[in-house]
Amino acid sequence: MFSNSNARNTYTTMTQNFYLKGTILFLAILFCLMFSFLPVSAKETNTSGSIKLSTTKTGFTSKGKLQLKKKASKKGKTVITIPKNKECTVLKSYTNGWSLVKYSNKKGYAKTNKLSIGKEAEQLIQQMNQVCLGLFRITAYCNCAKCCGRWAGSSLSFSHRLPQEGFTISVDPSVIPLGSYVLIDGHIYYAEDTGVHGNSVDIFCSSHGSALSRGMHYSNVILLKNYRG
Ligand SMILES: [Zn+2]
Repeated sequence: MFSNSNARNTYTTMTQNFYLKGTILFLAILFCLMFSFLPVSAKETNTSGSIKLSTTKTGFTSKGKLQLKKKASKKGKTVITIPKNKECTVLKSYTNGWSLVKYSNKKGYAKTNKLSIGKEAEQLIQQMNQVCLGLFRITAYCNCAKCCGRWAGSSLSFSHRLPQEGFTISVDPSVIPLGSYVLIDGHIYYAEDTGVHGNSVDIFCSSHGSALSRGMHYSNVILLKNYRG
């Protein structure tokens, strides 16, 4: 009796194992099938049998003017032409060498090799937005007679704003345009006063003492083109 029931139990376990293995096998096959069909369903009609490679990225038309086509083909109608050195958005890249690109709220296809994407694009954007103006003579000034001569005593800068210590700088507007932000020795300064010539920057100080203590040195000036404070 005992051994009989034991045998039945073993039989039941074997049957359960069989069904369990069967279910696992079935799921595995289903899984494989899903994966083999997935890329097919991800295909876009316009890109003639290619597989999507990437998601949204910043692109750059550094290699010249770029026509966005309605279809991923040279024969496709032109949707829009992107000028050289313009930033655009790369929505998808495909294995057939084309990308879906967005520019000025219009979408179209372009050859991926005509675009700069990824690190290359980031570097270009950085170069565009930060321009090293070169080595400048960096000094400091206050609004006293020694520093400003006949302009001494004025509480406002050339731009009619109250100058701020360690922020307002005096520049040659033909070298650094007034209203620009620049990076010097890791600090951001605002060009809003005049009085120096050429590659010189004078940093505003609230007292003659603090202006003297800053002394004079040479440093690279980086123009932050897209910085707005
Ligand atoms: Zn002074």
